[in-house]
Amino acid sequence: MHKELNSSMKENCIVVHYSEIGTKKGNRDFFEMKLIENLRRKLKNVGVNRVYRRYGRVVCDMEEDADLDRLTYSLERTPGVSNFLFAMKGPLDIEEIKKACYALLEEENFDTFRVSTTRSYKGFSLSSQEVNEIVGEYISSKLKKKVRLKDFDVELHIEICEKEAFVGYKKFRGIGGLPVESSGKLLCSLSGGIDSPVAAFMMMKRGCSVIFVHIYNSLQVGEELLKKIRDIVEKLTEFQIRSKLYIVPFESLQKRIIASIPSRYRMIVYRRYMMRILNKLCMKEGCGGIVTGDSIAQVASQTVENLNCIFEVSSFPVFSPLIGMNKEEIVEMAKKIGTYEISIRPYPDCCSFMIAEHPETRARSEELVKLENLLDGADELVEECVEKAKIEVIEL
Ligand code: ATP
Ligand code: MG
Repeated sequence: MHKELNSSMKENCIVVHYSEIGTKKGNRDFFEMKLIENLRRKLKNVGVNRVYRRYGRVVCDMEEDADLDRLTYSLERTPGVSNFLFAMKGPLDIEEIKKACYALLEEENFDTFRVSTTRSYKGFSLSSQEVNEIVGEYISSKLKKKVRLKDFDVELHIEICEKEAFVGYKKFRGIGGLPVESSGKLLCSLSGGIDSPVAAFMMMKRGCSVIFVHIYNSLQVGEELLKKIRDIVEKLTEFQIRSKLYIVPFESLQKRIIASIPSRYRMIVYRRYMMRILNKLCMKEGCGGIVTGDSIAQVASQTVENLNCIFEVSSFPVFSPLIGMNKEEIVEMAKKIGTYEISIRPYPDCCSFMIAEHPETRARSEELVKLENLLDGADELVEECVEKAKIEVIEL
């Protein structure tokens, strides 16, 4: 719209809306700048050349040959974005707005439409309803289409701002929440299963950046499992741009646990030692807490009593965002975020042989402490696991 309008004109920017950041009052600047920084990093290679703040929105200017499908994919995976509109940006002038709407819809195939105007700049001479009517009449007479307020084919959005107007009809929902890196750093205990990747995603959606830790028996499982773990982390990196993954060999501790701990307690003791490793890494990375994919009573180690026994050895808070979710709900979310297909790939589970026929479901702390006293040199082995950990960095 800045240039002379012609029918070949199309969307030249993306108007990004964020709902939750708007409620942050004093910290709003910080959250907005974080979102802008994340969008810049994420979209620079997919056809966006400028990202800036405008009247309570973020605007991303697109290059001419930008790929809208790829941009949609990226924006649907950017925490903090509640919705986004591919739009034409132009002057605040009703004639220009009409022309832009016409240019956008001229070659589209549809029968019914509605116009939805929002006016964040109240100084504009027309009300939202007047804009709706003027543009509605213009499009229906020029393109011979019908206005329908419900069950329409196309919704044309017009946003009236202080210096510019935005017009578009390709609007998509984001995942909302807060921009990654705005709420601190957490360590996610990542298995090869369905749950823990979803737990990591939920924390990213709340603005946390997540470092991943996978603990495994390097004598029993090999490249196939590690590939699966990396693929899961890569998928999750779509939400946070860059991820660090710790791969921790655990066989020495595992061996010692198997030698001294009765089978019914092994899983809990095993997880308590994992928790101790996670605590060391949490400290090293300056993380504020640990994320797990636990959900009450999903498996024997996840009874309230057992989880208490596992979490109590942590001096960092443990967050389990799936704690009250059913398996189907978790699966549904895993499918949405794209980790499900990777998680269900078969692989030799490094702890499947740890699963006892009759596992303890009501462990008591004192009993576990007594049992752990039988484990000679376990603290040194925890240190050794941490020292042997390998770090990988996965970037978009
Ligand atoms: P998931 O689907 O996430 O594997 P699950 O229902 O199979 O979960 P468990 O195997 O009991 O449950 O694991 C519970 C949690 O413990 C996981 O969600 C994860 O946070 C952590 N965990 C389990 N195994 C590992 C592992 N090998 N490395 C790191 N963390 C693990
Ligand atoms: Mg598991």
